[in-house]
Amino acid sequence: MTNIVKKKVPLREGFWKISSAPDGKPQLLGSKCKSCGEVLFPKKEKNWCVHCNQNDLEEITLSNKGTISTFSVVLQQPGGGFYKGPVPYSYGCVRLDDGIIIETIFSTDNFDSLKVGMDVELVIEKLYEDDDGNDVETFKFQPLS
Ligand SMILES: [Zn+2]
Repeated sequence: MTNIVKKKVPLREGFWKISSAPDGKPQLLGSKCKSCGEVLFPKKEKNWCVHCNQNDLEEITLSNKGTISTFSVVLQQPGGGFYKGPVPYSYGCVRLDDGIIIETIFSTDNFDSLKVGMDVELVIEKLYEDDDGNDVETFKFQPLS
């Protein structure tokens, strides 16, 4: 008799890692240019800064907290098949405490509660189940209040 173990797989490798600190919180991975200070997300595979054209990037972890800078609620499944999660969902931008703005999904069903300027925190959650029964996970931001 075999037990079927559902695996958790990331939507894409390299978006985040789990902190080795006791709290075990997730951290997004970015790149920082050692020449001009530009911070980029997601982490660049090539060591090239789009801002100053130098080959001087290092991997950094980004702040896991920020504030909502814009958002909208998506009511219909987007075309193209790239999004396989549930609808409706809320999507928008978060300004991390580092200053960088990134695109994200928000972890809430209470869309009326979302506000620009609201404090949010990074979470890793299931987006959908793949054909093998694995949970495909992605990063989202969850309102703190
Ligand atoms: Zn640069």
